[in-house]
Amino acid sequence: TLNIGYYDRIRDYYTSERKDSTGKNISYLVDYFFLDYHSDRAKAFFADTIYARTKTMLKCYEKLFGVYPFARDGYALVETPYWGMEHQSAVAYGNNFKLNNFGFDFILIHESAHEWWGNAVSCNDPADMWIHESFTTYTEALFVEYLYGYKRSLEYLSMQKPNIANKTPIQGPRGVNFHERADNDIYYKGSWMLHTLRSVLDNDSLWFGMLYGLQQEFKYKTISTEDVTKYIEKYTNRNLEAFFRQYIYGNKLPTLQYFVEKKNGKNVLKYRWINAVTGFEMPIDIYVKDKKYRLIPKSTYQTLNVENDAIKVNTERFLIEVLNQK
Ligand SMILES: [Zn+2]
Repeated sequence: TLNIGYYDRIRDYYTSERKDSTGKNISYLVDYFFLDYHSDRAKAFFADTIYARTKTMLKCYEKLFGVYPFARDGYALVETPYWGMEHQSAVAYGNNFKLNNFGFDFILIHESAHEWWGNAVSCNDPADMWIHESFTTYTEALFVEYLYGYKRSLEYLSMQKPNIANKTPIQGPRGVNFHERADNDIYYKGSWMLHTLRSVLDNDSLWFGMLYGLQQEFKYKTISTEDVTKYIEKYTNRNLEAFFRQYIYGNKLPTLQYFVEKKNGKNVLKYRWINAVTGFEMPIDIYVKDKKYRLIPKSTYQTLNVENDAIKVNTERFLIEVLNQK
């Protein structure tokens, strides 16, 4: 991007909680460049909110993913006439100083997350671009979680969900400079795929350790989908081959089919996966009244005796379709 204009500069520094090899806290430049005709608005906005928010964001991202990857260059936000773009160390910003319903500036949060996911860890073929967008879009939800807790992040994720289209797999074809995607699933479905995987693992220290580990393992490298999936499998010590085949290489959502049969005064829940790839045995949480059960459906019906037939499937934490019918 080339943008020529009269800029006002606001200069600041950020001292990281992370330390360099000598044990000193890492410190770097945080620079803002605003078009001079927006200067008053920018300063008011920054002084009130973003100025602190940028640092809150950096603190959050550094906690999750490690120190800002381009500390030597510094972090910078540069105003542009368009919405935003994740240029390394010069994030383009054109969001007109707007906060969303969750109290943050979407462009600041999204484009800056790309400094970790996209600029530090980069895909080696545009076919694998989900690595940039899925982790970045999911990071938005993690930022909400950082600010307000997990429950609120579920609200944020539920807002992303209607954007999932399932037209084509989030993995594109390689070697053809692929950019013509039919939908935005590398953003929203990818985010929900990660959210779902966290629910599958059901172990937050493992999950966050894995996210942090991915960054440390692949920082300043160009990688492929398989580098990511193999790393996740190794780190979590889980066979997730079918999971990734379903959510990354396929475009169909798995469907949980279930119904309750009454037999001799007992309620028998029958459940299975349909529309799923071979070997897909993802666990799923359901509630019977308020009691939680973790099911491991397969392609053939499994059964469980339940207290009654008031079943609620946890679709807040798992990206699936549900079919309550025999
Ligand atoms: Zn993006």
